[in-house]
Amino acid sequence: MNRIQRSVGAVIGSAVGDALGAPFEFGPAGAFSTRFPAPGAGGEMCGGGGWDPGEATDDTQMAVLVAESLLERGELDLPDIFARFQRWAASDPKDIGLQTEDVLTNGMPWDLAAAIHFQVSQRAAGNGSLMRAATSAVHFARGGPQATMDAARRIAALTHGDRAAWEGTAVFHELIRVTLEGAEPLAALPGIVDLVHPDHRPRYATVLAADWHPDQATELNGAVWPCLGSAVWALRATGGFEDAVRAAIDLGGDTDTVAAVTGGLAGAYYGPDTIPERWTAPLHVPLPGSGGRVLRLPQLTDLAHRLAA
Ligand SMILES: [Mg+2]
Repeated sequence: MNRIQRSVGAVIGSAVGDALGAPFEFGPAGAFSTRFPAPGAGGEMCGGGGWDPGEATDDTQMAVLVAESLLERGELDLPDIFARFQRWAASDPKDIGLQTEDVLTNGMPWDLAAAIHFQVSQRAAGNGSLMRAATSAVHFARGGPQATMDAARRIAALTHGDRAAWEGTAVFHELIRVTLEGAEPLAALPGIVDLVHPDHRPRYATVLAADWHPDQATELNGAVWPCLGSAVWALRATGGFEDAVRAAIDLGGDTDTVAAVTGGLAGAYYGPDTIPERWTAPLHVPLPGSGGRVLRLPQLTDLAHRLAA
């Protein structure tokens, strides 16, 4: 498998996980496999909770906004990404993270909004920057570890003032980079943890350890640490794309985002051909604030190709 195929797997895999997990958000553990006991049986892209079958949520919508900025600007243009986020947030998306919404609508300039929110709230380590990182991870992978992790931190900082969120997003970018190279992401993890900012290294070392289980999480999985740790656990504990995403959704809680992160990793690792066609066929990404556009598999695949080129 070449890096272009793996890049497509990351982008599509993340979107599929998001859409598959959305109807189960805030639900209990095990809800998915209770409803769909046998892997491969079909009908899983079921919709519900306000979501149509196959409809991707804010995770993928924001990932597409980042991707289109990177491709149209030809560089990392942070004010442009922030402006696209603001246009989207002002167009009544079906879902938007509480913290992200506050930062994008508080009237502050792009380079202060998240920092001021963090100063006031003191809580900004949500998974909302990690959830949207599949596209930027593909785009910056060619630049090497420092460049891709730095880009992840800067894009995360647009909406998240807490460095914990930057570091988790940076770890995800680097995991995708090594996977696109054809390396083993789980084997690379100890080295990646060494690249985390020293203040945040111990907590990431804990949730990314080979013997960590989501049951040991000390926060809900809407927080960045257990979200990333759970996605890595789902990859480690299973042997294929479908099982990895099922395991992620079965954890309950913030199911769309944990499955989006898992799907990005598993899609890059196992490749796009392992993502069930019955999941990609109904997949669609509405883009509020972008003239009513809706991206489907061909457009997402094209986006991934251009990001990887
Ligand atoms: Mg979502």
